[in-house]
Amino acid sequence: MAIDVSKLQLVIYPAAVLRQRAKPVTEVTDEVRAVAARMFELMRENDGVGLAAPQVGLPWRLFVTNSKQDKDEDRVYINPRIVSLEGDLEPYEEGCLSLPEIRADIRRQPRATIVATDLEGREFTLTHDGLLARVWQHEQDHLDGILILNRMTPLDRLATRRAVKELESSAVMHE
Ligand code: ZN
Repeated sequence: MAIDVSKLQLVIYPAAVLRQRAKPVTEVTDEVRAVAARMFELMRENDGVGLAAPQVGLPWRLFVTNSKQDKDEDRVYINPRIVSLEGDLEPYEEGCLSLPEIRADIRRQPRATIVATDLEGREFTLTHDGLLARVWQHEQDHLDGILILNRMTPLDRLATRRAVKELESSAVMHE
């Protein structure tokens, strides 16, 4: 196995991998399954409801979600595509595990349909509204290098400017 999954950790802004367009997963291997399992661990340790592969340093088109605490709700989305979005844009406060201390109202459509591949290599289609539809859109953005920083209102951009600058300068100090 090329990747030591136990070494995967959360990647914090402004890491370059968060700004890349992630690449399709060509085959669902044991390595992919191990990465997904580690992502659920990291998501839970950090009280997240979703986590995208770039957030653990892998430029892969894969994310995991669980908007409840029930492990039966764990779901892995490989090469996901949001095929339809419905409803009027609604603002709702979002955070991001790669942007600690930053929260902002992000406008998204309330209903989404997603097509993705699961860990057995089977394609599935799901339609949801509410929180899960929002999480899909947030995580799908990660696969395209888009962060909530890009979707904030000008007012939230001002309000979070100091926190963003602090993340940027602490990254410089660690280089
Ligand atoms: Zn995020």
